[in-house]
This record gives sequence, C-alpha cells and structure tokens, in this order.
Amino acid sequence: MPISKVGVAGCGLMGSGIAEVLARADIDAVVYEIDLDGIDRGRHRIESSLGRAVKTGKLSDNEVDLAVRRLSYTTDLEAMADCELVIEAIVEDAYEKIALFAQLDSVLANPAAIVASNTSSIPIMKLAMATSRPEHVIGLHFFNPVPVLRLVELVTSLLTGDETVTRTRKFAQEQLGKTVIPSPDRAGFVVNALLIPFILSAIRMVESGFASAEDIDLALVEGCAHPMGPLRLADLIGLDTTKAVSESLYEEFKEQLFSPPPLLSRMVDAGLFGRKSGHGFYSY
Ligand code: NAD
Repeated sequence: MPISKVGVAGCGLMGSGIAEVLARADIDAVVYEIDLDGIDRGRHRIESSLGRAVKTGKLSDNEVDLAVRRLSYTTDLEAMADCELVIEAIVEDAYEKIALFAQLDSVLANPAAIVASNTSSIPIMKLAMATSRPEHVIGLHFFNPVPVLRLVELVTSLLTGDETVTRTRKFAQEQLGKTVIPSPDRAGFVVNALLIPFILSAIRMVESGFASAEDIDLALVEGCAHPMGPLRLADLIGLDTTKAVSESLYEEFKEQLFSPPPLLSRMVDAGLFGRKSGHGFYSY
C-alpha cells in the first residue's frame, strides 16, 4: 500500500522542500515546527517555491492549489499521531534530534510507523536507540533544493528492519520519483563524506589568503564544470549546518581534514549562516 500521510518535523530549508515534494506527489503532509514564527517562515518558503514553479511553467495554478491543500501546519506533535511515516528535518543537533525521536515514539499510534531522519551526518543508530522501535528507524537523506535534486541516500542502521528498508525505498522511488542509493550508517554517508572535506579545503584556502572565495568558485565552475563553486555551495547548505556536519564527521573519524576551520566557526558565531541569513561568503 502506498504511504498516504506523512509528518515532516522542522520546516527550514530542507523540511520545506520535503513538504513541497510530498504535496506535489499528492501525499498529505503534517508539518511540525517549534513555534508559530517557524510555521510562518516555512509556509512562506513553500508557497514562494510553488509560485516560482508556476512562473517557470513547471506547475499550473490548479496544481499549486491542490498541493497547498495537502499541507497542514502544527506546533503540536500529537497532530502526527496517525502518520505512517515521519521525516525529521530539524537542526543538525544530536541532542535535539534524540529528544524529538523519543517524543515521536510515544506519539505515533501505529507501532509499524516509520521514523526517518534527514540528518546529514548523525548516526541513525543514535536516533533509533531513543525509540522503542529501532527496526522502524531509517535515514532518508534528501538534497537541497529538494524539489530539484533527485538523489536520496537510504541509510540503514544495524537494527533497521528489511521491511522498513523496502517500504521506504519504494516510497522514495515510486511515490516521490527520487533516485535512491543505499548507504551504511557512518557519519556523512556517501555524499557528505566526500563533499564536506572539499568545502572545508576551500574555506582553508580563503582563510590562509591563498585564493579569494570568488576565484575559487570561478575556478571550479569554469575549470571543472561544477554548477556552483564550494563557497557558494557552503552558503546554500548553510554555514551552521556545514559546521555541524563537519563536527559529526570529525567526531566519528578523528581525521584532521574533517575538522571545522576557525574561519567557519567564527562566521557561525557571528550569525553569518550564508544564504538563509543573508550573509556568508557572499551577500544575498
Ligand atoms: P534549517 O536551520 O534551515 O531548519 C531547521 C528547522 O528546524 C528550523 O525551521 C527550526 O525552527 C526547526 N527546529 C529546530 N528544532 C526543532 C524542534 N525541536 N522541533 C521542530 N522544529 C525544530 O536547517 P536545514 O538546512 O533545513 O537542515 C535540517 C536537517 O536537514 C539537518 O539535519 C541537516 O543536516 C539536514 N540536511 C541539510 C541540507 C542542507 O543543504 N541544508 C541537506 C541535506 C540534509
């Protein structure tokens, strides 16, 4: 049976993209945020993105109306009680996520409901062990912007059940039209284990004065055909998220190449989070 009702916890950059993709796939989604401001910001992000899809001819006004009607917003976790799947996309903070997984475990009425995390780097096992249903906990790692990028990493912990894997893979492939690759439960999974050290190396180049952010980005775009350079990409991901992922990778592997450069840490301390705060390596 296809999954027809999904909860999305957190409606920032990623949660809003995930909710939009669900709504566009005719799936009812309950979007949970920490407060009403979070809901307003998330709803605005989703509706602006749907508006852009109309302008570029990807969706009709009618399709947008239908998608908007699929979404409901709440600050009460109980509103997710009857969801068959919850996708968690709150801040990249293990303590916050563990607390939320424990709460979700007691709220979800169906013992077979799946709890998935969109974490970029926190081991799924840590989240699974906060619940009484580790066999139903899995990683479902989308990419930003979710409505555009097709990849999803499916991350199984040592305790994820086969049925959960099959059901979640089918959901991502058949209902959302995503391209799925499996990943073992190691910090960073496949993509971020490769991408984050690359971004951190670019930040170290800026920090040491070896090259400017503009020149590094231009070099990778014009010389390697990347769609955007690593500093612009870091701004898009969010420098706070980039730093959090780097710390998880460093904690897991203790390799120097994963440690956050001081420049990144200071920019995050200063609230320079990149595109989402208006300033990072570039201004928006
Ligand atoms: P974000 O900062 O844009 O959004 C996080 C949202 O979570 C905020 O709206 C915040 O209000 C909300 N939130 C925080 N604590 C909460 C709680 N306890 N309950 C409900 N909502 C809460 O972050 P993001 O970039 O959307 O990242 C979210 C997750 O997705 C992280 O785990 C991140 O690693 C992962 N991720 C990010 C990217 C990226 O490119 N930014 C890509 C893939 C995965």
